[in-house]
Formats: sequence, structure tokens, C-alpha cells
Amino acid sequence: MVLNITCIPGDGIGPEIVAQAKKVLEAVAKKYGHEMKFTDILMGGASIDACGEPLTDEAIATAKAADAVLMGSIGGNTSTSPWYKLPPEKRPEAGLLKIRKALNLFANLRPAYLYEELAAACPLKEEISKAGFDMLIMRELTGGLYFGERKTIEENGELKAIDTLTYSESEIRRIAIKGFEIARKRRKKVTSVDKANVLDSSRLWRKTVNEVAADYPDVSVEHMLVDNCAMQLVKDPAQFDVILTENMFGDILSDEASMVTGSIGMLSSASLNDSKFGLYEPSHGSAPDIAGQDIANPIATILSAAMMLRYSFDLDKEADAIEAAVRQVLKDGYRTGDIYSEGMTKVGCSKMGDLLCERI
Ligand code: NAD
Repeated sequence: MVLNITCIPGDGIGPEIVAQAKKVLEAVAKKYGHEMKFTDILMGGASIDACGEPLTDEAIATAKAADAVLMGSIGGNTSTSPWYKLPPEKRPEAGLLKIRKALNLFANLRPAYLYEELAAACPLKEEISKAGFDMLIMRELTGGLYFGERKTIEENGELKAIDTLTYSESEIRRIAIKGFEIARKRRKKVTSVDKANVLDSSRLWRKTVNEVAADYPDVSVEHMLVDNCAMQLVKDPAQFDVILTENMFGDILSDEASMVTGSIGMLSSASLNDSKFGLYEPSHGSAPDIAGQDIANPIATILSAAMMLRYSFDLDKEADAIEAAVRQVLKDGYRTGDIYSEGMTKVGCSKMGDLLCERI
């Protein structure tokens, strides 16, 4: 298979971690008989410096022509970088919003997985963490409260702010379908999270999810109120497989789920549209404090590349090979600085990439 991938190295540690992900993808291609065709585009600060804007129309056209996009991270030090003296629509982050919109990426996926070898970094009590967990938060990304009409008015001599939360059946249906499809590739369980005891939008969410569920009899579905879900994530995270939820609830719950793993350099993410196309990136930022030193952890980006193989190309075996290599490298005692603990072997970013390639 020929895989056309647009890469966005971006800023800070972005170019270093994307280089390792490309190396690992090449190793997978060699082993399984595929061909990787990478095309780099500029985004964020790198694009501001070269083209005067955070993302050009030509760069968007290149991304659209690919099968998938693999991104490092964008942005600089928000206190000291000259990029942050520009108006908001010209800053690095504007590129990210522009590409998400241009590619119609409405489904955000963030896995939270506890590696046995990194269990000590998990902030939960050992009696909870010893069961491990492996969940994926599927968050609706382009609707709900963050995109509803908003205004601030004056009423009875004081200011009053109004935000609106709307969801249509079609918006809920398309994300629910994604959730059930992805659950089929995992442990076949969907927990749909809402606030149906209070919100109309949540009642429509629950009704629509139930309708979609009827088409997936092999996937079990349960409904959970968001406040209970926030508690369950720290009480019994092992119960979850796919958590399907709307934009704001997903924003909060996905950060909570990330934090319980305790290892930011290990967390991948994906944003998908209604075809197989997706943008894959680590959950962390561009870490300008450690850029250019070959010490960043490339694993979140490499696991994002594994998600790309699984969800955009249906190459499950190849994705499994990357994930197995990550587990093996941890078992063998290799750690980048961010996940280092006494007795382990500390390695840099490119060495970690090499070790993973060897295991593939
Ligand atoms: P950050 O995630 O970049 O860094 C937070 C801390 O984690 C830092 O100490 C950093 O060194 C460390 N860290 C992060 N990733 C690491 C890795 N792979 N290996 C080792 N250590 C790692 O968050 P921040 O400092 O708040 O943001 C820095 C820049 O990144 C800002 O410009 C921000 O806007 C941007 N950002 C971009 C994205 C994105 O591109 N999607 C996401 C978040 C933040």
C-alpha cells in the first residue's frame, strides 16, 4: 500500500519528534511491504517566519490532497516569543484552528493508557492503578457550547452573559457512528456521557446515541451522567473502553483522563472527519523549554502515527507492531528524561526512535 502523508513538523520539539515518527513509520513500511510518501508543510511559528501567516492556502491544499496528516506541535514560549505580539488571528494557534476547520475535523480521539512500567507516575492509589486502564475519549469537536451564539448584554443595571449550547441530530449521529466504529476495533463498549437529567441537548444526545447503537448489536452501550463519569475516572478507570461525549464535557474529561496516566510525553491524539481522513498529533505542546536538545519524548507522536495506521489506513497489524515496540522498549528499561526513574537507562529523542525501530 502507498501511504500519502502530509507532515507538519511545526515548532519547538515538533521537528525532532516528527523525525522519529517518520523513522518508525519507515521501519513499519519496510517490514510489511508498504511505501511511505511524506510531504512536509509549514504551520504555526515556522510558517509565520517563512510566509508571514500561520498557515497558507497552499499548505492546506497539500494537506487535503494527502491520505492523512501527522503533526508535531506548534507554538513557542507565549511570554517571550515575538509570535505572541501579533494579533490573535496571526499567531501560531490560528493555524491549528484553520486546518481543523478546513479539514472538517469533528471527532477528537484521546486514548489514556496506563503502562505497567510507568504505573509509579499514576497519581491514583495503587489499589486502583494496579487494575490498569485502557480507554479512549471520543469528543465532539465542532459543536456545542464552544460554537454556539454568545453575547454579553446589560439588563437591570448589570451585565449578563449568554452562551448557547446547540446540537442537531446529524451532528450527534456522525460522532456516535465514529464512536461505535472505533469501539469495534477495541473492546466493544461505549459509555456515552451526558447530562440528560438537566439538558435538552443531552436528552437528544442520548436518544440519538441509542438509535445509532441499534446498528451495532455487537457493541455494548451504557449512559453515564458527566458528574458521575468525572468521579468514576479516578475511582475505577478500568471500567471504560470508549467514552463518547460532547464538546465541553469531552474537553474536561479528556484532560482528567490524561492526568491519571501521569505521563504527558506518552499521550497520542487524533482528529477525524467523516471519511477515513485524520490529523494525528501528540496531546502535549511544543515544549520550547527543551527544544533542540534531543531530549524530548517522541513516543506520543509515534503512538499518534500508530493511530493513523489503524484509523486512516485500517492497518491494524502495523499499528499493533508500533504499540508492542513501545511496550517492549519500556520493559527493556529505556526512558527519556520526562519518564525516567532510578535504575532505568536514560536515552535521548533520536535514540528512543532507533530503539523502537530495532524492535519493529
Ligand atoms: P507543553 O506541553 O509544550 O509543555 C509542558 C511541559 O511538559 C514542559 O515542561 C515540557 O518540557 C514538557 N513536555 C511536553 N512534551 C514533552 C515531551 N514530548 N517530552 C518531554 N517533555 C515534554 O505545554 P506548554 O509549555 O503550556 O506550551 C508550549 C507551547 O505549546 C505553547 O505555545 C502552546 O500554545 C503550545 N501548544 C500547542 C499544542 C498543539 O500544537 N496542539 C498543544 C498544547 C500547547
